Amino acid sequence: TRQNDDDAESGRVRVAVRLRPKNTEDLLSDADFFDCVETQPELKKLKLKKNNWTSESYRFDEVFTESASQKRVYEAVAKPVVEGVLNGYNGTIMAYGQTGTGKTYTLGKLGKDDVSNRGIMVRALEDIISGASPACDSVEISYLQIYMESVQDLLAPEKVNIPIVEDPKNGEVSVPGAAVVGIQNVEQFLHLLQIGEANRHAANTKMNTESSRSHALLMVSFKRSVNDNEENNSLFHGKDDRNVLVGGHVIPTIQKSKLLIVDLAGSERLDKSGSEGHLVEETKFINLSLSSLGKCINALAENSPHIPTRDSKLTRLLRDSFGGSARTSLIVTIGPSSRHYSETASTIMFGQRAM
Ligand code: ADP
Ligand code: MG
Repeated sequence: TRQNDDDAESGRVRVAVRLRPKNTEDLLSDADFFDCVETQPELKKLKLKKNNWTSESYRFDEVFTESASQKRVYEAVAKPVVEGVLNGYNGTIMAYGQTGTGKTYTLGKLGKDDVSNRGIMVRALEDIISGASPACDSVEISYLQIYMESVQDLLAPEKVNIPIVEDPKNGEVSVPGAAVVGIQNVEQFLHLLQIGEANRHAANTKMNTESSRSHALLMVSFKRSVNDNEENNSLFHGKDDRNVLVGGHVIPTIQKSKLLIVDLAGSERLDKSGSEGHLVEETKFINLSLSSLGKCINALAENSPHIPTRDSKLTRLLRDSFGGSARTSLIVTIGPSSRHYSETASTIMFGQRAM
């Protein structure tokens, strides 16, 4: 039942690994390189081969082969989080991996020509919109980028360095300076995502950087007005402070939940590039936020009472969306070729530490 699912799902991070199909670089690779990843999806295992003699096997909550469909990935990894959001729990879905391994494909693909290619963002909004009742629920989004510890608005690009605010009473994290747009249908959402992508591209061109060096963050706020109808109330068992009993009557309250979908900056090792000036600064900030994310995820995996979210903007934004009653899914994306063996190995280890 749902109640049992909730107990099993909340608090821990579900970790999936997804292997990207071979691209031209992989196919044209010279003889020095080989396929270093072997997936065993039924066993939820993945073997990473260092050479013909040495390999290591890892277990994940889900293992997706290069032919796993977008639908399958959504249903296994994202849907439980989305269902939680419809029932009043916060949730986070993140993709971590080297640039070019499929983070944006997995999360942000619009699938304009072929809806079967749609990624997690579009499918999640589809499910949230269809799970919402137009009469008493609202679905709103903000679309942000974090670049060098500055929060920027992808829907209103003139807004930069937007403060993150934490409500001292209930710990609720918000970005009140960012544009918030109400969503009625998927077409409207697709349109906003396109605007966000165009702004992201323009901002990065202006700053002379790559979008792979920033985090893109879709924030979906779901609000439901809960009335004193028994049937409705039985839906909400997530938070205890939701309904207030006064003189035997339940006073209508607003149930709020939030979904964050985070397309993380590329995880490739940034220290060996020998880059200068601006790039060194950029590198420091990416390393800072990904390593502080790693620390938070490890703390969650160890059931630690203290999740160290203060160290970066990224983790401050995630603060109320993971741990506790929130549901978190992490998808780590990897490529097949031994050309990138060490990046693949470090991505797999990041995922393993989250479990
Ligand atoms: P990242 O966001 O991690 O840098 P992308 O999502 O941009 O990587 O993917 C790099 C390229 O590989 C893109 O052309 C994308 O369409 C393709 N690709 C990634 N994953 C898949 C997949 N599972 N199936 C088909 N193509 C994929
Ligand atoms: Mg990308």
